[in-house]
Amino acid sequence: MSKDYFIIPIFVPHLGCPHDCVFCNQKRITGLSTDVTPEDVERIIEEHLSTFPNREIEIEVAFYGGSFTGIHKEIQRKLLAIPLKYKNRGKINGIRLSTRPDYIDREILDLLKEYKVDTIELGVQSLNDEVLNRSGRGHSSHQVYIAANLIKEYGFNLGLQMMIGLVGDDRQKSILTAKELVSLNPYCVRIYPTLVIKDTYLEKMYRDNKYKPLSLEEAVDITTDLLMLFEYYDIDVIRVGLQPTDNITLGKDVVAGPFHPSFRQLVESNIYKIILSDHIDAYDKSIIQGKTMVIEANGKNISSIAGQKSSNIKYLTQKYGFNKIKIYQKDIPMGVINICMDDKFDIIDRKEIVGKYLKDKAII
Ligand code: SF4
Repeated sequence: MSKDYFIIPIFVPHLGCPHDCVFCNQKRITGLSTDVTPEDVERIIEEHLSTFPNREIEIEVAFYGGSFTGIHKEIQRKLLAIPLKYKNRGKINGIRLSTRPDYIDREILDLLKEYKVDTIELGVQSLNDEVLNRSGRGHSSHQVYIAANLIKEYGFNLGLQMMIGLVGDDRQKSILTAKELVSLNPYCVRIYPTLVIKDTYLEKMYRDNKYKPLSLEEAVDITTDLLMLFEYYDIDVIRVGLQPTDNITLGKDVVAGPFHPSFRQLVESNIYKIILSDHIDAYDKSIIQGKTMVIEANGKNISSIAGQKSSNIKYLTQKYGFNKIKIYQKDIPMGVINICMDDKFDIIDRKEIVGKYLKDKAII
């Protein structure tokens, strides 16, 4: 059984980043406006270590926000020396950081190797050059490929972050970006729907009617296809949607856009809606009408199968005319669902239906 995994997040707000991506206000996203010092890093690590359970666990220190490798090299060394000390003493297991594709070269990677960094996450956002350009990213798609390949050549774990709903973006471009990310064979991926954050250029564009954010429904729909695509290729999607905080919520720093505190769960529920509908569609509707459908699933999947406020149960009951849908927890793998309907018992292999869905939609 794999060990429980804990992360010690250290936010490096805008430090080292002279860019102004239209959607970004790092100070608001991280909730911090001061530069992080090595003393801060040590204090944060100590604080977290004192709260972790006293058993064998995996711990990773992660530098988030800003563009870590854009920071002055001497400051990078001072910041990295702290987690390195803890790693050498066996108190933490890994070090990760995020940065921009154009802030990766051999000299930087040599430095990160020296400080035993394990994972480098690149903010890719899109692999469409027009979208990158209109988002003010200041780098090309070509630079992403170069950086990603170099990171892998050095033996780091490669993380890739993409956004949907950027300026000039659409579903097709997002799917193409995701397919290209798959081709880079990353260790993990993050997907962020674009939100209009206060005090960004995007906010001005939005207020001037020059940018229309995705609706929540559109964002869930596009992310459903992306999540299924990454799942099909066994790529771990470690985050979907911006982490809600006291300020990252609609009406505070989020001015507009597809924000939802449980965005990933909305997407996961939508995936189960598709999987279950696909299975039930194979039945003669007149036979199953008025019957009870029993679903057995791993406990971790139950709430996504039911949907928020039982939305999937309501949808399927109404669409197929069931008398009732019951969901039971069972000790079975996450990728399997058992269905009992009209005295028939079926085992659904989630990945098989995901593949079929992607092929039907000509995504793969
Ligand atoms: S590169 Fe990253 S930190 Fe810098 S402005 Fe763009 S999104 Fe923000």
